[in-house]
Amino acid sequence: MSKRSATRAAREKMVATQLVGRGIRDPGVLDAMRQVQREEFVGPDSEPYAYDDRPLPIGSGQTISQPYIVAFMIEALQLKGGEKVLEIGGGSGYAAAVLARIASAVFTIERIPELAGQARRNLAATAASNVTIRCGDGTQGWPEEAPFDAILVSAGAPDIPAALKSQMKIGGRMVIPVGDEPTSQDLLRVVRTSERDYATEYLTGVRFVPLIGSEGWTPGTA
Ligand code: SAM
Repeated sequence: MSKRSATRAAREKMVATQLVGRGIRDPGVLDAMRQVQREEFVGPDSEPYAYDDRPLPIGSGQTISQPYIVAFMIEALQLKGGEKVLEIGGGSGYAAAVLARIASAVFTIERIPELAGQARRNLAATAASNVTIRCGDGTQGWPEEAPFDAILVSAGAPDIPAALKSQMKIGGRMVIPVGDEPTSQDLLRVVRTSERDYATEYLTGVRFVPLIGSEGWTPGTA
């Protein structure tokens, strides 16, 4: 079997066992996860483990999330196609590449310059041309591009950043891990129901690296 066929088979197996097997049902999410080549986002040392059921290191003390949690969070955004999406915590660029297969435009912010550069290269190599990356503090969002239909926060916050809430469209959704401890959170879905009102729903318990920034944890947090 060629390397290309082997990774395609590994990807199909990951979708069938880790995603469909655990209840992911959104056809757009499943299709996107079938298409994006995760091995392009993990670096040569982790390539053999690209479809393992776990997070993997991507350098600078950060991780690419477990495939299931990526699919679960994107499904929770309730995308129908054609949306404008903001991601905070671009990391390797993998989740942005999955979002880019569903939404029409994706904006992703990564605070660590080395990772932002790596994500830019990974996304260029996988022809995700509808993703724009910025290096900076994502807790302040991307005001020039707001409002967004959906916001995915891929790091654990102490609270829901007010700047991100203000950049949601009415009817828009945000999925965000929030917790009193830097590495253990409740995954929440926030829906903006009117100019001033938001509805918040608990989805599940998660363990993310901390969201560091002016509306996040302070630098040096474990
Ligand atoms: N979504 C990424 C992927 O697909 O590879 C994985 C995200 S990783 C779990 C969390 C990322 O959030 C890390 O790369 C970290 O540097 C980043 N991060 C933490 N605080 C941030 C902030 N205020 N703004 C932007 N990125 C931040």
